[in-house]
Order: sequence, then structure tokens, then C-alpha cells
Amino acid sequence: MEEIVVFGTILTMRQTELFTRTRKEAPKDEVSVNARLLMRAGFVNKLMAGVYSLLPLGLRVHQKIENIIRREMDAIGGQELLMPTLQPKANWDKTDRWETYDSLFRFTSHYTKNEYALGPTHEEVVTPLVQDQNLSYKDFPVYVYQIQTKFRDEPRAKSGLLRGREFSMKDLYSFHTNEKDLEKYYEKARDAYFKIFKEVGLGDVTYLTFASGGSFSKYSHEFQTVTDAGEDIIYLCNKCKVAVNKEIIHEQKDCPECGEKKLKEEKAVEVGNIFKLKTKYSSAFGLKFKDEKGKEGDVIMGCYGIGLTRLLGTVVEAHYDKDGMIWPEAVAPFAVHLIRLGIDSKVVKFADDVYKKLEKNNVEVLYDDRDASAGEKFADSDLIGIPYRVVVSEKTLRQAQGKLEKKKVELKKRSEKKEKLVGVDELMKLGA
Ligand code: ATP
Ligand code: MG
Repeated sequence: MEEIVVFGTILTMRQTELFTRTRKEAPKDEVSVNARLLMRAGFVNKLMAGVYSLLPLGLRVHQKIENIIRREMDAIGGQELLMPTLQPKANWDKTDRWETYDSLFRFTSHYTKNEYALGPTHEEVVTPLVQDQNLSYKDFPVYVYQIQTKFRDEPRAKSGLLRGREFSMKDLYSFHTNEKDLEKYYEKARDAYFKIFKEVGLGDVTYLTFASGGSFSKYSHEFQTVTDAGEDIIYLCNKCKVAVNKEIIHEQKDCPECGEKKLKEEKAVEVGNIFKLKTKYSSAFGLKFKDEKGKEGDVIMGCYGIGLTRLLGTVVEAHYDKDGMIWPEAVAPFAVHLIRLGIDSKVVKFADDVYKKLEKNNVEVLYDDRDASAGEKFADSDLIGIPYRVVVSEKTLRQAQGKLEKKKVELKKRSEKKEKLVGVDELMKLGA
């Protein structure tokens, strides 16, 4: 597999330089597990209900998710762009959604009295944008995507990062000259989505779910992750590993794949969805193409969303214990949490040397070089949830002397109970 490059983030960090602090208690008004743990560990900060800052540790996780998504979207031909958040009312009038889109944030300029929306989704921008390219039938299909902040006036925002009023989303839009082509791409996108959810650590609990297709298609498909924190109800077929969203269970009572009648009710969160828009938006904006005979037709569209901040919160909901978060390796803020116990000069030198060697070998490491107690350091390490904990102490130093490679450290996986003594060299492949 291709290596994931994390742009703009450094590989290693000393904890004494990290400006955020862990907390013993989460704010009382925060009920969701994801927000409580992410806030306590200093990954996010709450500005108000449904609106969070991503702090350095949280941003690192977000950037890893971004890059996994980018890689898979690029692999199915997606071209990344970035569209404006600020959108004119006129575009929303064209699709008749200015009045009907319930969670649209709308406001008026004090100066010009013009009305605007803060983008909750981007059909109203991407459709005229593609139209403006004057493409010929030979130029289709077109696939564009962005990773961007979205705004929705959600009536309730109680699930932490799972339902924000401001949140990040990857939205891809596809444009085709015929339905067969859309169908083919839809399947490719579905496969790419499975790869993404598997890599971020949700493969076992995320199900393709049949949902309403609106007025243009029988179904759309959601990717629902089973978790108690979910606000959706799905009915799962254990044979086919597909589900039906409660919203259509009256029309679709059995498994759509095998006809199984006994479906299991589960709580779930929608981490992504794919939707055949067909000509809904192209006809609203007059986005057409001329075929080889000069005959005009409406362009056929699909849209494909993944909520990144929601996904980040969902990973927490799927991977935690009473002590804190347990990050899957692919999205962990760091691969190794190096913990130095004691301030004896020999131990400090040893720990510094291990840190430098890890850095040289491109292992992402957070180095707890603080002057704090073992108990405090272990508690923080469990809370932050980095996959590998490496302890350097006088005790480990006594196990072997001589060259750095010979020296021993204690290695423990966050997901396991027992630590083991290993040579320093063994650490260099961690997180690779
Ligand atoms: P939901 O049914 O959960 O409200 P939706 O069907 O309105 O979501 P879409 O409009 O399809 O969602 O948005 C695409 C993706 O964006 C969703 O699959 C989800 O992952 C994410 N998303 C939607 N709303 C929010 C929100 N308020 N906070 C965080 N992520 C969201
Ligand atoms: Mg939905």
C-alpha cells in the first residue's frame, strides 16, 4: 500500500511543547462519549453546542482521515477543488431549496441587503460551475470533490462531533451523459467507501444501508456504523451484511439482497452516503450536453458524501475503554507514545536517544518528557490512546547496557493489557 504522507504536520513532538492539557473531568454539559474523551484529552475544544475547534492532536487525526479519503477519491478519478462556503440566494432559488432546506443557515448583508446561505452541501455551486466549462459530450464523465467545512442549522446537537452545526465533509459530484455510466461509477464509489471505512478502523461495524432515493431513484445508499451513540435506526441482515434504514422499512421489510425476513434492529451513525441525483440539479441549472449527433440531453449526476469530523467521532465511539481512546494505527495522532519515567540524567539521555532514533526512522512519536509522576503519565497516555506505549526508565535501563540498540524498553499496545521488554531496534518498525 502506498505510504500516506501527512502534509504540514511534523513527525515527532515533545509533550512539554504541546500547549494543550489533559483534564480529569469533561464539562458537565457534554454527554457524548466522543466529545467527552476528545475534550478531556485535548483533541478538540468546544466553542458552543455543535461547534468545536480541532486542536493539534485532533487535527493530526483529521489530516490522516483526509489523506486516506483523498487517496481513494483520487484513485477513482476524482479531481480535488475547493468551493466557496458563502453562497448567493439566487442559486438556492433555482433549485427551490432556499425555502425548503430546513437546516440552511441564511442571512442578509447589512450593507447590500443581499441574502446568502452558508453552504450545507454544494449542488448549488458545483452544477453551475461545471456548466460554465462548456463541456462537450467527449469531456464527460467528470468527477470533482472537495474537503470543506459545512454549516447546518441542526435542531439538536448533542452527539459531540457526530452532529455538528459546523463540520467537515468530503463531497464528490459526478457528471455523466448516460445512466449506465453513473451506475458504473456509483459502484466504484461504493467500493472506495468500503476501503476508507476499513482503513480508519470501522470495517467490521459499517454496513451498506438502503435508504430513500428521493423522487429520482428507488434507493440511495448510506454507510452506517453500528454504535450506541448513533441517532439512526437500521435493520441489519446478518447473512448479507447489508441493512435497511428505518425511514424506508415500511416499503422494504426484507433484506434487499436475499429476501431474509429476520432483520436485526441496531442503532447506527451515517458516516457516508452515495446518491443518484440523476437530472434533478442539472435540469434546474440547465446543465446539458450535445451528443455526437448534436442532440441535447440533461447531464446525469451523482453525489457522494463522507462526514470527516463525524467519522473522527465515530472512530472514538467504536474504540475506547474506561481509561480513554484506543486509536486504530492508520488514524492515530502518533504511532508511539514514548514515556520517560524519572529525571535521572542517564534515563534522560537514554530517552532522548530513543526519541532521536525514532525520529530518524520516521516513526511518529509523542515524547512525554514532562517532569510528572508515572501514574499521571500512564493515565494521560491511556486517555490520549496512541497505539504503542514505550516506557524508558531506570528499571528498563538496568535490563541491558552498552550500545543503544542493546538497551531495553517496555513496549505495550494500548489495546492490550501486558507490556513486554524489547530492544530499541524493535521499535523502529512501529507505525510503518
Ligand atoms: P443525517 O441524516 O445524519 O442528518 P444527512 O443525510 O443529512 O445526515 P448528507 O446531507 O448526506 O447527510 O451529508 C453527507 C455526510 O455528511 C453524512 O453522511 C454525514 O457523514 C455527514 N454529516 C451530515 N450532517 C452532519 C452533521 N450535522 N454533523 C457532522 N456530519 C454530518
Ligand atoms: Mg441521511
